[in-house]
Amino acid sequence: MKTGYTGLFIPGPTNIPERVMQAMTLHLEDMRAPDFGQFTLGLLNDLKKVFKTKTGQPMIFPSSGTGGWESALTNTLNPGDKVLCSAFGQFSHLWADMCARLGFEVVRLEVEWGKGVPVEEYARVLSEDKDHSIKAVLACQNETATGVTSDIAGVRKALNDAGHPALLFVDGVSSVGSIDFRMDEWGVDVIVSGSQKGFMLPTGLGIICASEKAFEAHKNSKFPRCFFSWEDMKNSYTNGFFPYTPATTILRGLRESLDMIEEEGLENVFKRHTHLATGVRKAVIDGWGLKLCAQGPEWYSDTVSAIVVPEENDAAKVITRAYERYNTSLGSGLSKVAGKVFRIGHLGWLNEIMVLQAVAAAEMAMKDTGINIELGSGVAAAQAHFIGSNQG
Ligand SMILES: *Cc1c(COP(=O)(O)O)cnc(C)c1O
Repeated sequence: MKTGYTGLFIPGPTNIPERVMQAMTLHLEDMRAPDFGQFTLGLLNDLKKVFKTKTGQPMIFPSSGTGGWESALTNTLNPGDKVLCSAFGQFSHLWADMCARLGFEVVRLEVEWGKGVPVEEYARVLSEDKDHSIKAVLACQNETATGVTSDIAGVRKALNDAGHPALLFVDGVSSVGSIDFRMDEWGVDVIVSGSQKGFMLPTGLGIICASEKAFEAHKNSKFPRCFFSWEDMKNSYTNGFFPYTPATTILRGLRESLDMIEEEGLENVFKRHTHLATGVRKAVIDGWGLKLCAQGPEWYSDTVSAIVVPEENDAAKVITRAYERYNTSLGSGLSKVAGKVFRIGHLGWLNEIMVLQAVAAAEMAMKDTGINIELGSGVAAAQAHFIGSNQG
């Protein structure tokens, strides 16, 4: 049946609110018009609230999250610099891989998929690095492949305890605007996000924010760069303009999505995500009797759940069945967990009933593909959580 909406329950791109869609239904405009600069400056100012920073400099590239990663590395470091990172899922792996491909010396800690940033190991490596040869520490706040959220405050503490001056870079592509993130309080030097996840927009913007310390490092960074040059971007931001053509249409959408976040209240947005995620977890654990890839509540992500299917079953079949028969997109298992997990993305513009829709579709698709699931069990477990609450 292909009438009605195709359910979009992948962890990005996410559902675009009607308001945001309408805000983007407009003619293209002159990005050098006299009033365009004021419009941009308003966006940059409101982005600071989402990143929880007073002194950071937000920058918007016509790009995606991956471009944001690259800009963080190439604007602050020098070729051959040592960076500390950890890999515990496809996205943390890819950022570490980018570091290697850009020619940095990578200290890469391998972590079992299902856990997150190994804060204690970071603390050990940093305290042993007496001559401060490590120039940057990377941390993925929310590993989208496994549904694992890490402790960024803990990474900051590890740096402080070791008295280590390295820059702290955080991948917040699937957490910013959905899970609490505190740039200033956690002393984050570059936070990287993108438009198509918590910001509820089309893909096409790499949205980052850099600290004053990151801009100090920028002055001594000899890395070749052009398109992602912070200097060019910051200079043209003096008047709110861009060094090249910005994605004006998506920027109009960003205005609307920032207004929506402000109206709901950022803290309420986080609460809603926790509430909806808890419903999904009840469905998976209490209803279906299945396990999450995340190995324990301390790792649970409020934006995405990776659900492990029984060993004899193939999660890829569940995803195909859900799409073909039930008109519902579930997230696939990436790389190491391909066939082992399917994911439900529960971030962005979402409510309880949409979550129940995803759970119901997953339930039927699992049953159809031979997984021993009692119809209604997940839905009922999520409903029981939602009905007793006044959130949502
Ligand atoms: C989606 C995602 C990325 C990649 O972002 P793109 O916009 O696809 O380039 C990076 N990190 C995480 C954690 C993500 O979820």
